[in-house]
Amino acid sequence: MTDDVPTKDYARQYGPLWPELGPALERVFRGDAPVLGRAVREFEDAWAAMHGSRHCVGVGNGTDALALTLRAWGVGPGDEVVTCAHTFVATVTAIAMAGARPVLVDAEPESMLLDLHRVAAAVTDRTRALIPVHLYGRVVDPVPLRSLAERHGLRVLEDAAQAHGALGADLRLAGTIGDAGAFSFHPSKNLGAFGDAGAVLTDDDELAERLRVLRNLGKLDKYTVRALSPNSKLDTLQAVVLNTKLPHLDRWNRRRAELAGRYAVGLEGVGDLQLPEPGGGVHAWHLYVVRTGRRDALREFLRQRGVGSGIHYPIPPHLQSYDPRLGKVDLGYRAGDFPIAERLAETIVSLPLGHELRDDEIDRVIDTVREFFG
Ligand SMILES: *Cc1c(COP(=O)(O)O)cnc(C)c1O
Repeated sequence: MTDDVPTKDYARQYGPLWPELGPALERVFRGDAPVLGRAVREFEDAWAAMHGSRHCVGVGNGTDALALTLRAWGVGPGDEVVTCAHTFVATVTAIAMAGARPVLVDAEPESMLLDLHRVAAAVTDRTRALIPVHLYGRVVDPVPLRSLAERHGLRVLEDAAQAHGALGADLRLAGTIGDAGAFSFHPSKNLGAFGDAGAVLTDDDELAERLRVLRNLGKLDKYTVRALSPNSKLDTLQAVVLNTKLPHLDRWNRRRAELAGRYAVGLEGVGDLQLPEPGGGVHAWHLYVVRTGRRDALREFLRQRGVGSGIHYPIPPHLQSYDPRLGKVDLGYRAGDFPIAERLAETIVSLPLGHELRDDEIDRVIDTVREFFG
């Protein structure tokens, strides 16, 4: 039995980093502050500098990065925020956490991203913000996005959780296209901490200042409280992990692109497979998501041959069965409301992709997929 081709292998990812990471962690334990230590500011400064942004505010996770930004903008009960029906649930969660109503718009079938042509019909006089999700690492087309937002007077909060280092068609980095960009550094992302972490990028001084208060229990300083707000700070140890990994991000993303290119060549014209289109700009290849009408059979075939795969995501947020004992959720949508998103959920499959994977492993995935389709 040969080794599995994994969708994620953290031990393999951390092996080569350990000579840098070990001493960096020791330095922190010996001399930095456990909460909001120097390492946090160091990462915030580096992430802001890489993006040419005035501010980066580190928070506990990507969901809070979205929710706290909405809150800092004064978005709350009675307000509506528009986002894509085809996304990780956290985008929708964040809108609900802010107290606003999530208004969903179907995906555009080719890009699998928010269909900008459908947004205008979803805007009402209560709509305050638009959250484009750069899903899988592909950036929502920035020029029509910005003109749409301007036309309707909406703030744009990018969900860039899957798009670290990706460029839009205007060659601006994901997270700098709208009024603010929210990132997750969940371990699975292109730049991942060893645990939860997130950040917000913005050029807006006022927003950054509010976020620094909102992430810290609403505290202006040690004893002055200006809001009843969550405790959601970027952890010092996670910042050390991120500082150690950041210099490698560009190389890792190029490796992902190389492997995506290998899939594109090896899987061209195979069965009914629909391969992902990179779009304009530079794709971050967080996930390599193909589509097939025989998705479940393909996954089972891969599994039996030691090839990992995933589905991102099998149940769209509007079709989950929410338990009322865990909180009231009424998105107000039914099956059939977002046919593209629903069809995607049934046909998508994510093939193994990560900078730590070898060429021969990708080739093994390709060969196994080809074998399945005969
Ligand atoms: C990961 C992710 C989030 C949430 O990030 P967490 O750090 O897990 O809270 C939000 N949106 C998208 C698209 C994501 O992939």
